[in-house]
Amino acid sequence: MQNSTSILLVYTGGTIGMKQDPVSFDLRPFDFSQILEEVPELKKFGYRIDTYSFDPIIDSSDVDIDFWIRLTRLIADHYDNYDGFVILHGTDTMSFSASALSFMLGDITKPVVFTGSQLPIGMLRTDGKENLISSIEIAASKDEDGHPMVPEVCIYFESQLYRGNRTTKYTAENFRAFRSANYPVLAEAGIHIKFNTAFIRYPEDWNRPLKPVCKLDPSVLIIKIIPGIRQSTLDALVSIPGIRAIILETYGSGNAPSGRWFTDSIKKAVERGTIVLNITQCQAGRVDMDAYSTGKSLKNIGVIGGSDCTTEAAAAKLFFLLGQYSDNKTITQLLKKNIRGELTEK
Ligand code: ASP
Repeated sequence: MQNSTSILLVYTGGTIGMKQDPVSFDLRPFDFSQILEEVPELKKFGYRIDTYSFDPIIDSSDVDIDFWIRLTRLIADHYDNYDGFVILHGTDTMSFSASALSFMLGDITKPVVFTGSQLPIGMLRTDGKENLISSIEIAASKDEDGHPMVPEVCIYFESQLYRGNRTTKYTAENFRAFRSANYPVLAEAGIHIKFNTAFIRYPEDWNRPLKPVCKLDPSVLIIKIIPGIRQSTLDALVSIPGIRAIILETYGSGNAPSGRWFTDSIKKAVERGTIVLNITQCQAGRVDMDAYSTGKSLKNIGVIGGSDCTTEAAAAKLFFLLGQYSDNKTITQLLKKNIRGELTEK
């Protein structure tokens, strides 16, 4: 029997919708309607599940800004007509897309759940079926007041629901492909789906209309510091024309080489008006530029501490902020602030 719950299921591409070519054994995308045929169980929910397929569907390695804008507009155009949204997406860049959408959609009042799989949905041992079924159940879940349980942009994968902008893809092999090292899971699916309500962001106003932002500026460069990096390499990187912000992936709690050549190079970039954001290379933990003198010298020349933000969320946040603001003061202030649950403020 059908109830009044409605979900928009969006297929963008990725392994979940692939089929093995019987001759070449390559994985190739197959038609979206066939995905639903693979999961007849979905009918048992009794929800209205409408589907939308991107055309062409893409491997998530081809995700770009235009894709994020299309996806944001699609959700915005249908926002009032559905209780929740499930986005089937390749795993490779899912954390980037979920991070980007968390900024572009703003403070939402409905769930937007990204999912995918490590094995195609047509394969016997696929993880895609459980991921899809539980994502739909989560997107449809409401509390006793009728409000959605998780009004956030999230990723559901292998029985865990994460805040999207806290995730990183960390394995290309295991079913549990994602990690949220610095933030607890929002829900765990066992016999029951247990929601970790203390860690879910709820809107102040459930009637808040969606205010999507579709202007991004990707003039961002990521520099991962390695022992032995040459001065000439660093100088060349920080002077690339057109770059408005640099994400510096540093060691440990935000440390970098202490030599004058290093700080001078970064200092010149800051003086030229380039925003420099310090993010740790570590999988977990946070940047604290007061902890060591090597971090302190970066702070003294105007490098901004990114706390426990992931590289994916930092990039998406910078695209978003650079698209919205032209003055570095506002961008700097907002980079230090937790605006969509993406970082822990000091
Ligand atoms: N290359 C695929 C993609 O990201 C991998 C996957 O979906 O797991 O689209």
